[in-house]
Amino acid sequence: MRITALAGGVGGARFLRGLKAHLDVVAPESELTIIANTGDDISLFGLRVCPDIDTLLYTLGGGIDEAQGWGRADESTRVQGELAAYGAVPQWFTLGDLDLGTHIVRSQWLAQGLTASEVTGRLAARWGLPGRGIRLLPMTDVPVETHVVLDEGDGAGEKAVHFQEWWVRMRAEVPATRFVVAGLDRAAAAPGVLEALRSADVVVLPPSNPVVSIGIILGVPGVRDALRGSRAPVVGVSPLISGRPVRGHADACLSAIGVSSTASAVAELYADFLDGWLVDPADADVRVRGVETAVHPEPLLMTDVDAAARMAKSLLALADRVRG
Ligand code: GDP
Ligand code: CA
Repeated sequence: MRITALAGGVGGARFLRGLKAHLDVVAPESELTIIANTGDDISLFGLRVCPDIDTLLYTLGGGIDEAQGWGRADESTRVQGELAAYGAVPQWFTLGDLDLGTHIVRSQWLAQGLTASEVTGRLAARWGLPGRGIRLLPMTDVPVETHVVLDEGDGAGEKAVHFQEWWVRMRAEVPATRFVVAGLDRAAAAPGVLEALRSADVVVLPPSNPVVSIGIILGVPGVRDALRGSRAPVVGVSPLISGRPVRGHADACLSAIGVSSTASAVAELYADFLDGWLVDPADADVRVRGVETAVHPEPLLMTDVDAAARMAKSLLALADRVRG
């Protein structure tokens, strides 16, 4: 079985780790291709940082800080302390010492002329992903950056900041009026991305942020069309339960694009290609035209790998059902 997934960071990585654990039991020969959001990428201190790819690498590779959901386990921040002593900015983005190793080697390889796909392939090899049937692809090799246009409400006109500054420093508390993704309209899908969507037996949308993770990947030219034309069932997991994101600020992102924060409104965003939608028992009344809904038999929460694996099992059962 060939499974292709679109993914952001923590929500995507935790779900896909559960999916992989489930597949290891029921279909160990399966191949999982992950198309990662790179709109969150940022250059800091001369280093290229790809937060969603790094979260996927560390989570699937067994190096993640479990409690936090991102960054390395047993991490220290001695380098960042030195940078602060020099007055170097920004200081709002945490860069752990082990994590910096990833950013340094990525930046070196990019400077040597490797593409983002090639670099991601090398990083994934270190974390043992290819040997376990997991292929990790950036959505595009072109640098793309999500910016957030802010409504500061003082008549001062529009101001845009990098997505990370809004998300991390401002904690998404300053209302956003829209997202502008620099470079996206000209960003060709990375090698293998469209092919992985076209040749999949199942396409899965983990409960990643519908606007700034999945929404960005859908904006890569050709991706949405490949999903619309897909023979395979496209099935997704709701990132919202009872009108609230499980973690993060998806509600602030949805309100910026004029969409309400409900499991059904998120499914509507995908309705042109979505076949099945897995929701929490609290959202059992969700109905979306043209989309088959399934209610997970327990809370739709990835409290641990097993819980995520059971979500994946429900999602694949739904895929079988819509396949007919
Ligand atoms: P990010 O890039 O690190 O923000 O991660 P993603 O975009 O991949 O995922 C973020 C989304 O995952 C948020 O909107 C959360 O609501 C959702 N999420 C996180 N944990 C859970 C969970 O346990 N269950 C469900 N249903 N959604 C979750
Ligand atoms: Ca992200």
